[in-house]
Amino acid sequence: MVRIFKCSFCNQEIEPGTGLMYVKNDGTILRFCSSKCRKNMLNLKRVSRQLKWASKVPAK
Ligand SMILES: [Zn+2]
Repeated sequence: MVRIFKCSFCNQEIEPGTGLMYVKNDGTILRFCSSKCRKNMLNLKRVSRQLKWASKVPAK
């Protein structure tokens, strides 16, 4: 069984076998479709709603 996860940053579905997983110190698991999303969330602390390229898929 392969579960499909959504990118924690841009909310797009991540193809099984691709993407990145990041575990924060508090145990929260973040999944990213690309290093671009990971960088934006962790290094730049951006909010995806404020980015044109990341806001095409509406957040739930
Ligand atoms: Zn993403």
